[in-house]
Amino acid sequence: MQTDGLDLPTQAERADDEGLFYELIGLAGHALCLSRPVYKNGEAWAESHLYRAVQAVFPHVEPEVIRLGAALPADEVGTRSEAAVAAMQSPALRQWLAQADPAFWAQIELGLLIERGRLSRQPYDRYVGRLADETLIRRVADWLSPAQHVWSATQLAEFGVCNFRFFARRLLNLEPLETPEEGMDARQLGTLQHEILEKTYAEFKACGLPIALEHVDTALEILEHAAESVFPGAPKRLRFRPSARWADEQQVILRRLRQFVKFDFSEKHPIRKEFPGERQPHAFERQFGFREEARLDLGGEELRLRGVIDRMDRIGDRLVIIDYKSGSTKIPSSEIEQGRNFQMLVYLAAAQALVGPDQVAGGAFFHISDRSVSGALAPDDPVLDAGKTHIRRLLRDGRAGRFHARANGMDSGQCTSYCDFAQFCRVHVTNQDKDADA
Ligand code: SF4
Repeated sequence: MQTDGLDLPTQAERADDEGLFYELIGLAGHALCLSRPVYKNGEAWAESHLYRAVQAVFPHVEPEVIRLGAALPADEVGTRSEAAVAAMQSPALRQWLAQADPAFWAQIELGLLIERGRLSRQPYDRYVGRLADETLIRRVADWLSPAQHVWSATQLAEFGVCNFRFFARRLLNLEPLETPEEGMDARQLGTLQHEILEKTYAEFKACGLPIALEHVDTALEILEHAAESVFPGAPKRLRFRPSARWADEQQVILRRLRQFVKFDFSEKHPIRKEFPGERQPHAFERQFGFREEARLDLGGEELRLRGVIDRMDRIGDRLVIIDYKSGSTKIPSSEIEQGRNFQMLVYLAAAQALVGPDQVAGGAFFHISDRSVSGALAPDDPVLDAGKTHIRRLLRDGRAGRFHARANGMDSGQCTSYCDFAQFCRVHVTNQDKDADA
């Protein structure tokens, strides 16, 4: 039986526990050792009523606390894994374990070897993201060839942040197992906001009006209708279970989008400084690399690209790319220069392929939550060349099987604000002075 996430055993279940406990402690002939975990999933775990009862009976017995993973004295171990930990400090126990269970001990020795390799400055090996098998390397190189591989901005960004991250996600196809939760996750919220904005600006475009302060009321009216038509089907379409606060959440989203549209139409919107002139909404959720091919010229080879440009506005006879971001984390163009994010580089190349190289004025990220703009870039900006140099390096790494766990721009031991593979890549115990090119 469970209420509010708490296990509430019935009286019969408790009686079972108590009966069993009484029976078991009655079996002890010489000594009785009672133990209990004190943490579960990182949180303190309260003792059971049985444990408390024993403490009440033996108030002078001081419980001994053993830290997680701590080595026990050799003569106190109770399990094989406790013995393995204790064996690190006891040569006699080590010798005994190696003789008593050679297969188990061989596994431990291999683990030790791998771990020492990680900690040392020796080059990355097959346990630290470096492919060793020549056939496998050739297959990966083929897979990364322009003939086979189609790149999205997300894939390039994963690779740019860390070779291992790309390897785990794209070659091993690993994904975290998410616990289903009530309400929308961040991705669903982003899609919902995109849908409403797409509908709003597409309908506003049909009015033939520019994005200007005097037309903001028209745009806001269209926004209300767009939201009204998008919200009702959202849970089914985006596959989430609406929470009890769904009606309030809709109001919050609508309020946020109203602020966003108001600011977009205002005179002080920073995009006006970056790309001056009268703006007209032009295209929405524009796909590239599906029916129409888009390529990124790296000089010497061309990568095939695939993705979607959220919005393009027309200023005179040229287009400005707009990419919506739900969060407020800025994506400065220096991220391209550092080889960590290639999103705008990809969009600029794709837009030039779609409409012609002279037709693209530039692009920027519009942050919905705080209505800011970041990463504004023109197609002739020199950072794009620096970005292409990084992509060439990443391709060289990938085709040589170099997928080491070392984040680009790692700072104070932190790679990125969040990484699904942080537990898996073992970066925190990997020596960062290893030669990545060896
Ligand atoms: S935690 Fe860092 S090193 Fe590990 S996979 Fe993620 S980005 Fe790479």
